[in-house]
Amino acid sequence: MEAKKISDMDEREDSAAGMKHDGFIRRKGMLVVISGFSGAGKGTLMKELIKNYDNYSLSISATTRQPRPGETDGKEYFFVSKERFEEMIRNDELLEYARYVDNYYGTPKAYVESEMEKGKDVILEIEIQGALKIRAKYPDSVLIFIITPSAKELISRLRHRGTESDEVIRKRLERAKLEAVGVEAYDYILINDNLDKTVKHLNYLIQDQHMRASQQLEFLEEFQKELGTVI
Ligand code: 5GP
Repeated sequence: MEAKKISDMDEREDSAAGMKHDGFIRRKGMLVVISGFSGAGKGTLMKELIKNYDNYSLSISATTRQPRPGETDGKEYFFVSKERFEEMIRNDELLEYARYVDNYYGTPKAYVESEMEKGKDVILEIEIQGALKIRAKYPDSVLIFIITPSAKELISRLRHRGTESDEVIRKRLERAKLEAVGVEAYDYILINDNLDKTVKHLNYLIQDQHMRASQQLEFLEEFQKELGTVI
């Protein structure tokens, strides 16, 4: 069989992006959870995904960790105090939250809900405990784990990033060892060996989820109603 050409893939991309049942019924936004070991390149992947396709919204988390050089409040994260974070928990402002290497991280609820209402697929870039909480609350969400081609490469990417102390890197690698056991709970594992290819792949994967029958119940209902009026 002939190998798939890039042009074939582009055609497929167009049809997936246009598959919205426009003029008939509005497509509902989906929750997409992206996790991966620290250093697997998730951040860059997400930026490219948002830049290349307009059907996604990226949720911005709240965290109690300090900003890294180059990070801005309200862009990468909402950087908040421990007191403010605990207030958000008490006021039920978070969809989920978790502790990760000595800090709190959580997903503000309001933005996610309003973007899904608009039909956007909302990306949550969160760690595994949060991912499992989302799966329990939203069974239709899709969970994708991004991984490097090898563990060796993960260690090398983390060391070369140069933004964390040796102690923090050690803690993050320890955490990766623990999380590696839970990865089976995800729906997909995507190997990030080439940025452009992985971004395309990620988009196909997400758009394909809209074809699941469970995502199209409203459409089916309308279809059945219309059939009923002509017979
Ligand atoms: P970092 O400090 O490297 O930005 O993030 C550390 C970890 O926290 C990453 O695995 C990241 O995906 C995760 N994380 C970021 N935001 C959230 C969140 O809102 N909830 C949860 N559960 N994890 C998050």
